[in-house]
Amino acid sequence: MNSLWNQQESLAYQGDLALRVYTSRLLGKDPSLVLHGGGNTSVKISEKNILGEQEDILYVKGSGWDLATIETGGFSPVRMQHLLKLAKLPRLSDLQMVNELRTHMTLASAPTPSVEAILHAIIPYKFVDHTHADAIVTITNTEDGLERIKEIYGDRVVVIPYIMPGFDLARLCAERFEAEVHDHTMGMVLLNHGIFSFANDAQTAYENMISLVNEAEEYLQSHNAWAIDIDKNISQPASINRHTIARLRADASQIYSKPLILSCHTDNKATAFIKNGNIDVISQQGPATPDHVIRTKRLPLLGRDLNGYAEQYKTYFSEQSVKISEDVSMLDQAPRVILDDELGMCTLGQSAKDADIVADIYQHTIDIILRSELLGGYKALPASDIFAVEYWELEQAKLKRTGNPPEFVGEIALVTGAASGIGKACVNSLLQRGAAVVAVDINPGITDQVKNPSYLGLCCDITDMGQLSACLDKGIQRFGGLDMLILNAGIFPGGKRIESLGDDEWDKVMRINLDVNLTLLRECHPLLKLAPNGARVVCIGSKNVPAPGPGAAAYSTSKAALNQLARVAALEWGEDNIRINTLHPDAVFDTGIWTEEVLQSRAKHYGMSIHEYKTKNILHTEISSTDVAEMACEMCGSLFAKTTGAQIPIDGGNDRVI
Ligand code: ZN
Repeated sequence: MNSLWNQQESLAYQGDLALRVYTSRLLGKDPSLVLHGGGNTSVKISEKNILGEQEDILYVKGSGWDLATIETGGFSPVRMQHLLKLAKLPRLSDLQMVNELRTHMTLASAPTPSVEAILHAIIPYKFVDHTHADAIVTITNTEDGLERIKEIYGDRVVVIPYIMPGFDLARLCAERFEAEVHDHTMGMVLLNHGIFSFANDAQTAYENMISLVNEAEEYLQSHNAWAIDIDKNISQPASINRHTIARLRADASQIYSKPLILSCHTDNKATAFIKNGNIDVISQQGPATPDHVIRTKRLPLLGRDLNGYAEQYKTYFSEQSVKISEDVSMLDQAPRVILDDELGMCTLGQSAKDADIVADIYQHTIDIILRSELLGGYKALPASDIFAVEYWELEQAKLKRTGNPPEFVGEIALVTGAASGIGKACVNSLLQRGAAVVAVDINPGITDQVKNPSYLGLCCDITDMGQLSACLDKGIQRFGGLDMLILNAGIFPGGKRIESLGDDEWDKVMRINLDVNLTLLRECHPLLKLAPNGARVVCIGSKNVPAPGPGAAAYSTSKAALNQLARVAALEWGEDNIRINTLHPDAVFDTGIWTEEVLQSRAKHYGMSIHEYKTKNILHTEISSTDVAEMACEMCGSLFAKTTGAQIPIDGGNDRVI
């Protein structure tokens, strides 16, 4: 591990708080130090208040901020004098502590200070850095972790036995610190939790962290507990059956009582870990540091017995809940990590981002477990300590902070023809409503059209069965299932009257606008049947279905046939709780084919201005791709929960349709 401090770069950060931001981000950049919101930092600054009085203020990381991306606004200013008085109280409940922290901030709009604020206050140095470094938790999650830490650091660090974060930990640290601190104290190790470093300037505090963690890494290296042997040729799970994954996700969602995203990871490390002969022991010890529990749960599920897991979780809850003083109600019993011989490491979360966070944490957990094993044996904290953090109201608050989840969170949609026009707009509308989206298009630009963990863009010729099947496999491996299908891809060849319409053109239009949709519906049916909230299919039809015009026989016929296919599907699939509805858009001009030139020539043809041409409907309104996409989303939403087999025009009103 190297210091990332760059003198030149640091000059852009003037003042103590700005430098605090700089080195916090340096810590946040290294996932072997902190992961997803873990760790915290602070700086003590003396400043004048509005009355002109000088006050010492602790700027400490606000709850909910990530060190990697923190800004000055992510630090909460709390009055030091009050924090130091609090630290001397014999006891303080969590709620009282949060109340005291919040009522002694000097900025009403600041985030709630970290629960470790009092701990930061009692450390008598200006800059305090705290991480959950992998190397430290690797060493301290072993039988003789305490002795090893003493062997590495001697008396240069104060060692704190494991105690749950919060007021009691701050008090214990204050006592130990006062008793043990001396001139060359560089840090404080919290067994099974993490490490603190400190100094009176930002660079030294940060570099102390790096050098302390480096010593731990070197210790692991010198004890042959660093390099993990991963068989590069380990046999990856053979072809993964997408229906097996979707079934697993459906069952997990049922236990969770809401749809979940499930991501499969079949990298060498995860595969080798799952095939470890000792997996049923080493994976069933507990998390590497207690605050991972709110993301990963205490234990992963080995294999696929979800009901067995749920039963075990209930037993764990009833055994542990009687040991704590507060009255707590049981959380859901669905696993967040599944280790399966055939499917690899599956991670679950309410959103793709949540499932990815679980994956990141568990990838680090694998390293930690394997290194601890090389050091003599991985030994996590007992279940009671993990339970206390899992059901600690302040930890649960971290997960609830996001407020009401969006409508389609945990659900997965597939959109065809997703690189432009209505398809692209559908992707955006679905993402905005919280869905994970598999966007399929023949345009290679689809792969990086959107940067979002909930987005998977796949370049695919949907008329090729092999490619289409591979797309479904990839989508299911990434997100776990399929809840919504937007049949949008289609072509509109130039106007041609029947007497000059060749068979080739007719076949091509039928193939793309109609046949492919039959294939998709057929292949997706077993997946849609498993949708936890019932599946929805939206067909993008056309005004030409109810009101065809001359010169577009192939297009109009293909869309009319698609419409009929959707109606039959609605009849057949109602019993599978799958709704199919059709939209008939007209005159959507913000798509690729309607260039300024084409618009001008069409408008001229009718003797109209472009604006008049675009709004030549009963409501004299313009219809955009987004309007159509929003309507498609509504048809997938609760408003249409009791509607199937319907056809809705979105055309500003057309007298021929009406
Ligand atoms: Zn911590």
